Amino acid sequence: MVIKSQVLKKGRGRETGFWRQGTPILLSRGFLPLEKLRYFCMMSARNHILDTQIEYLKGIGPKRGELLRKELGIHTFGDLLNQYPFRYVDKTKFHNIRELHPNIGNVQLKGVLRRLSVSGQGRRKRLHGRFRDATGVIDLIWFTGIHWLEKSLVVGKEYVVYGRISAFKDQLNIAHPEMEEVNEENTQKAITFAPVYPSTEKLNSKGVESKARRRMMTALFEKISPADIPENLPQKMVSAFKFPSHFSALKDIHFPKNKSVLEAASRRLKFEELFFLQLRLLQLKLGRKQAVKGYNFEKVGDFFNRFFTEKLPFELTGAQKRVIKEIRRDLGTGIQMNRLLQGDVGSGKTMVALMCMLIALDNGYQTAMMAPTEILAQQHFLSISEYVKGLDIQVEFLSGSVKGKKRKDILERLEAGDIHILVGTHALIEDPVQFKNLGLAITDEQHRFGVAQRAKLWKKNTPYPPHILVMTATPIPRTLALTLYGDLDVSVIDELPPGRKEIQTIHRNEGHRLRVIGMMKEQIKLGRQIYVVYPLIEESETLDLNNLQEGYEALSRDFPKPEYQISVVHGRMKAKDKDYEMQRFVKGETQIMVATTVIEVGVNVPNATMMIIENTERFGLSQLHQLRGRVGRGGEQSYCILMTGYKLSNEGKERIQTMVRTNDGFEIAEADLRLRGPGDIEGTRQSGILDLRIADIAKDGRILQTAREVATRILEEDPKLEQPENNPIRQYLAKNKKLLRGWSRIS
Ligand code: ADP
Ligand code: MG
Repeated sequence: MVIKSQVLKKGRGRETGFWRQGTPILLSRGFLPLEKLRYFCMMSARNHILDTQIEYLKGIGPKRGELLRKELGIHTFGDLLNQYPFRYVDKTKFHNIRELHPNIGNVQLKGVLRRLSVSGQGRRKRLHGRFRDATGVIDLIWFTGIHWLEKSLVVGKEYVVYGRISAFKDQLNIAHPEMEEVNEENTQKAITFAPVYPSTEKLNSKGVESKARRRMMTALFEKISPADIPENLPQKMVSAFKFPSHFSALKDIHFPKNKSVLEAASRRLKFEELFFLQLRLLQLKLGRKQAVKGYNFEKVGDFFNRFFTEKLPFELTGAQKRVIKEIRRDLGTGIQMNRLLQGDVGSGKTMVALMCMLIALDNGYQTAMMAPTEILAQQHFLSISEYVKGLDIQVEFLSGSVKGKKRKDILERLEAGDIHILVGTHALIEDPVQFKNLGLAITDEQHRFGVAQRAKLWKKNTPYPPHILVMTATPIPRTLALTLYGDLDVSVIDELPPGRKEIQTIHRNEGHRLRVIGMMKEQIKLGRQIYVVYPLIEESETLDLNNLQEGYEALSRDFPKPEYQISVVHGRMKAKDKDYEMQRFVKGETQIMVATTVIEVGVNVPNATMMIIENTERFGLSQLHQLRGRVGRGGEQSYCILMTGYKLSNEGKERIQTMVRTNDGFEIAEADLRLRGPGDIEGTRQSGILDLRIADIAKDGRILQTAREVATRILEEDPKLEQPENNPIRQYLAKNKKLLRGWSRIS
């Protein structure tokens, strides 16, 4: 074991000692021999063995310790323990080389390394091996860590090889296989499920791969005992769910003896993780309800009533009425509201938002509405200004693009309280923006705003934070909502305004192009308008714009002037030109709008009844749903045509089939979550909330539900977790304050 000298000599005056994160753990006046110091360090670490720095584990040392810290964020024994394997390989069988084929996946072979040679230079340098068993020969290949491998691998020796089969020019090979000299352990089938850990190129090249990790885990488990890892769930719960103990679960997740043991461990650890997450979220919610006072909007007054009787252009749907009631109730309790408003595209969330703002105005407060993009913010601004015309309400727009005198004027009037409703982008939460009395803040999130940004809105005010209403532009599955917005109350608009016809969605490919053009002409003859949408992805922006350009030219031939007029809108255009083109379409001067996904949010043209989506396979499901929501806004039958290539991946096919089958945003969101996993759903990544160790929101919905229910019940019965049976929970939470760091910042 080596102790870094700078740690040792950090003492002031004559003190020598050992510090951990700035706190002295062991100090000594005068000289203390290094050996003794080491011993004391070990002893002091015994109290919190899991806090011991990682380099003190047998076989790690400072160099590897540094690597583990840098590459994987593993600082302590506890960190090591808490990084679980992400898969396990069945090492009970050996394959014959003769029977291998390109799609076989991972294989384990036993044989002799016959040859080893280096070829290429610099970055193209690689190491080739030939590996033979009784039935055939296969190539092994490495691109990194060559120096080290060359030294450690021995031609002529017997190895167990593990890796993934791939094919290159009809030749099978394994890239970066794990190599282990044949020994008793790996041939006796002692390990049945070998864990595989997350790793990095760098770690692999330094020889710290799964095998080395397994060795570290063995060393770790020699150091710790069940006493070091106390139970963190009440005994009653452990028995009721037939969970293994906390310690056994950890041991089994790293060293599963068989499949059923592994499953039990993983079930418990998933539950545990989700349970503590939900517990924290519910505590936040509960704590806020007790502690965070809010403005009391006592009355509904003239603004609301005049709007309702004179201005409201349609009858509210039952769902809209219900949700407005729910929100109104919150606003009158004197406790800060934190509510999520979910509703499918076109369900009329904006109207709900507006009517809530009117209640705030009636009580003398200002309101703000924040949208994730400039276009969407503009759209909200325009529709709100239009709705409240004649009601003597000051509505203003603020974004990064509002500058100079205009900006200064807005900021001044805002602070003086002369602006009632401020609509804008995240520019609203910047520091110079000061309200006189912000009573209600609405964010239209499209799951893009992080939790921290939401929190910033709260600080816009004293003495109380404003009431917060979060709207999501696309529905999110219940499980995801419970996690991302688990600290909020939820309202759902589950009803579309009447008279809407289901959009008919049709899948077509290039071979149907003529028929599609025919359908477009029919719609135009009926006086309707059409969107043609092209994907635009940053990485291939130029190529995508070329596609759009070509598409536009082809359309211009099929729909010649002057009979037909076409607008083009894409992200590379100047805002002014974009606006002009958009306006032409909105006014009905053009029949076709060719666009990239800039129209995804915002644009509202009820006369548009057809949308052609090109290269549909390149869009994600929720994006497609969002796009499709741009048609079907009037009373006419609308169509969405999904154009794809001939060849589709399985996932692509499933996405298209889902779109054709249903218009239900919640069903689509579930499918999206299932297909892509939560990590890829827009905006969830930066929230950090889904960086779970083992649970997977997409797959573990049932466990999540249970965890939420159990957490709710426990807090109902014992809000402060004071009962003796809940000791394990309380102690664990106290020790793991880091849990949900992003969230606690809010509270
Ligand atoms: P969302 O933001 O939920 O996608 P919007 O608020 O943009 O939906 O509403 C979509 C369209 O439906 C708008 O044109 C709006 O004026 C209209 N709308 C909203 N509520 C009703 C209603 N109760 N009856 C008829 N039309 C409505
Ligand atoms: Mg909307």
